[in-house]
Amino acid sequence: MPRTVLVTGGNRGIGLAIARAFEKQGDRVVITHRGSGAPDGLFGVQCDITDSESVDAAFSFVEREIGPVEVLVANAGITDDTLLLRMSEDQFERVVNTNLTGAFRVAKRASGKMLRAKWGRMIFISSVVGLYGGPGQVNYAASKAGLVGVARSITRELGTRNITANVVAPGFIETEMTDVLSDSRKAEIIKAVPAGRLATPDEVAAAVTFLAGDSAAYISGAVIPVDGGLGMGH
Ligand code: NDP
Repeated sequence: MPRTVLVTGGNRGIGLAIARAFEKQGDRVVITHRGSGAPDGLFGVQCDITDSESVDAAFSFVEREIGPVEVLVANAGITDDTLLLRMSEDQFERVVNTNLTGAFRVAKRASGKMLRAKWGRMIFISSVVGLYGGPGQVNYAASKAGLVGVARSITRELGTRNITANVVAPGFIETEMTDVLSDSRKAEIIKAVPAGRLATPDEVAAAVTFLAGDSAAYISGAVIPVDGGLGMGH
C-alpha cells in the first residue's frame, strides 16, 4: 500500500537516496530542502528544522497537497567538529538544535496525524558515532545518541497505536559529509571497518524502507546499524 513519506534533508546525500528508494517502491514522497529546490521528479517543500513555525508550515502544506505524513524520516543533520577544549557552547547547541531538537520538532508535528490514523512510522537517522563516540564530535555524538532516547520513548508512548519509532545508525557513508575528510583520515576509517570500505547511501536507504514496511510492524525502539561492523556491540 503506497504511503506518504516525508524525508527531511532529502534534497541530497543519504536523504536523497532514501527518498529515491521510497519513490521506487511507489510511495508518495516529499523531501524538505532549505531553498535548493527538489531534485528531478520529487515533490519538495521548504523547511528549516531549527524553526518550529517552518516545520509546521511545511507539514500543513504537505497535508493540503498530498495528505498526512505516514512515514517520517528524520534525516537532516549537520556536523561542526572540534575538540572539547575548543568547542564553544554555541557550536554545541547549534548541532544539538539541528540534529536532536530538529528531529523532536518534526516527530512532534507528525505524531498528531499518526495518532488519528492509528498508524505511523518514524525513522531517525543517527550515526555509529552516537554510540561509539568520536574525537572532536562531542556535540554530534550527543545529538545522535539522544535520538535513541527519543525513539524509545515514542515507542513506549505510542506503541499501542501501530506507530513504531526506530533508529538507523549509519557508519561512514560516501556523501558530501565524508567528502571533506582527508585521504589519510578516510584510510584510517576504512582500516577500522570490518567490511573494509565505506557504504553507499543506498545501503542506508534499504534499512529505512524495511523499517517503514508492514513486515517491520513489530520492530520498534531498535537501533539498526548500517556500518559494516564498525560499531559492533555498542
Ligand atoms: P549532507 O551533509 O549530504 O546533507 C545534510 C542534509 O541535511 C541536507 O539536505 C541539508 O539541507 C539538511 N539540513 C541541514 N540542516 C538543516 C536544517 N536546519 N533544516 C533542514 N534541513 C537541514 O549529509 P548526509 O547525507 O551525509 O547525512 C544525512 C544524515 O545522515 C545526517 O543526519 C547525518 O548526520 C547522518 N549520517 C551521515 C553519515 C555519513 O557518513 N555521511 C554517517 C552517519 C550518519 P541543505 O541542502 O539545505 O544544506
